[in-house]
Amino acid sequence: MKHAQDELSKRGARRKILVVEDNDLNREMLCAVLQQKFDTIEATDGIAGLEALDEHRTELSLVLLDVYMPRCDGFEFLRRMRADERFDTLPVIVATASDSVDDELECLKLGANDFVLKPYKSEIIMNRVSNMISLRESASLVNDLTWDDTTGLYSKELFYRTVEDILETNPNTEYDLVCSDIDGFSVLSDRYGTEKCDELLRALADQLRDKLPGYVVGGRIGADVFAFLADHRPSWPAEGPQNALGDLPVPNVSVKFGIVERIDRAMTVSKACNRAMRALETVKGRHGLLIALYDDDLHQRQELEQTIRETMEKALEDLQFAVFYQPKHDVSTGKTGGAEALVRWTHPEIGFVSPGLFIPIFERNGFITKLDMFVWEEACKEIKRCEELGLPAIPISVNASRLDFDVPDLPARICAIADKHGVDHALLHVELTESAYAENPDAVVRMLNELKGLGFSTELDDFGAGYSSLVSLNTLPLDVMKLDMSMVRQATATGDFRIVESTIKLAQVLGLKTVVEGVETAEEARRVTEMGCDLIQGYYYSRPLSKDDFEEYLRDNANEQQDVPDTH
Ligand code: C2E
Ligand code: CA
Ligand code: CA
Repeated sequence: MKHAQDELSKRGARRKILVVEDNDLNREMLCAVLQQKFDTIEATDGIAGLEALDEHRTELSLVLLDVYMPRCDGFEFLRRMRADERFDTLPVIVATASDSVDDELECLKLGANDFVLKPYKSEIIMNRVSNMISLRESASLVNDLTWDDTTGLYSKELFYRTVEDILETNPNTEYDLVCSDIDGFSVLSDRYGTEKCDELLRALADQLRDKLPGYVVGGRIGADVFAFLADHRPSWPAEGPQNALGDLPVPNVSVKFGIVERIDRAMTVSKACNRAMRALETVKGRHGLLIALYDDDLHQRQELEQTIRETMEKALEDLQFAVFYQPKHDVSTGKTGGAEALVRWTHPEIGFVSPGLFIPIFERNGFITKLDMFVWEEACKEIKRCEELGLPAIPISVNASRLDFDVPDLPARICAIADKHGVDHALLHVELTESAYAENPDAVVRMLNELKGLGFSTELDDFGAGYSSLVSLNTLPLDVMKLDMSMVRQATATGDFRIVESTIKLAQVLGLKTVVEGVETAEEARRVTEMGCDLIQGYYYSRPLSKDDFEEYLRDNANEQQDVPDTH
């Protein structure tokens, strides 16, 4: 008994007890006794008790409850309290008369935890109350600091604490932290059910515990995420601990590993796990890659990503984004026949950031839709400015991210921007990639039809970049096909232009105009011109230009002698 009371006082703060008792004398007596060690709150019947429960819910450690009271008795109080999940674990001690076994039974059924007999005896009350509180608190502690039933690994909290201990008591030993994660675990759960997946987790935990090189201790830190402390090894094989794995109860399971080498003791274990998981994310869902180390490179990349995410909104407000224009050479006229709007970001601290870097990040966090609307605005302003300068009117293509097609009124929005600036819809083209179509085919087809109906042109970007399917060519309402620059690169490297040529022919058969992208040399320009492409975009003619340079380019280009290349 003494032990329980000591335990409580060791943990400091006085616990608070709700005393629900209608008899004034009894209540005052109870409170006077309890106040030697505890704070008390008094309620004169069940209703007042429930109100006090609600008001002090986070402060209470226990309820001491009389059974017979007016308005709302102890049974009713228990019934209502236990129906409220906020009070699931709050212990209740019920005061009963010595001859009321039935009452006790009823209270037990309703969720009472213990009893004291009336008339009250102060020492017994004190002990019962202290014991109950102490039991509850250590139970919840054990709950956090325990083993995971399914796998036998440590719980997350216990793993963290154990690793901290090990690091502290072995200051001169170097350790690695290894996190494992099962690819597509939720899909497996759906397919094989919880029981089978628990079996899988257990088998995986067993195998890793046995065979992970240098295994020290392991914990389950997420549904299908394990973390292991292992002795540091100079190099982890590319297949990672995977080759330590034997048969698993579910077929074709791919386990990925993220590793932090030589854990930095200045870092919390949970942060080290975070880093291992961030390394792991880079190989998740990617076939053939099983293991990733958290290194400086990844660290810097992720810091940069973080900076980009934190500063993007302000960057848009502060006009750090600018739109550049890359001219497209029209083969039939020898003049500029269009341009592609390409966004640029000059960050005040980082400097120039490549769209190849920030666009994928914005596609992950959704910011791309906002940025693309900005690009539409800028493109419209540019068309107007060229018109005011008396430059030839040429269409500008704007890239639409696959996420843009999640915005149901995208066509209406683009239309509103064009109309606000008084721009002829025929001068605006939408460039989309096939991945947009693959993800959301119905919406993409509907929106492209809508856009075409409104007078905009549609271009399929990056055709031949790896995801191309002939089905999308057939299904999408398109005006233009852009051949991905990898096609020209490949053709130049091998001297074999047959794929470029037949792709151009294919587009022609389908009634599509063609743009060949990434043309860098006179030879490439000549070859694709011969093959009948309509427009050429690439460094050979021009890099993407700032709006001032673009206007100058158009001016020079308009004044130049027309030079139609010889196609024979
Ligand atoms: P993309 O749409 O395929 O754009 C063409 C990219 O190729 C541009 O890179 C352009 O500068 C580059 N390029 C053009 N000609 C040549 C050449 O002859 N040789 C080589 N090596 N490269 C050439 P950039 O501007 O870095 O843009 C990269 C990608 O970022 C774009 O690929 C596009 O997917 C995306 N992007 C750029 N601006 C936007 C935008 O405003 N919205 C959206 N959603 N995506 C954009
Ligand atoms: Ca493009
Ligand atoms: Ca492209």
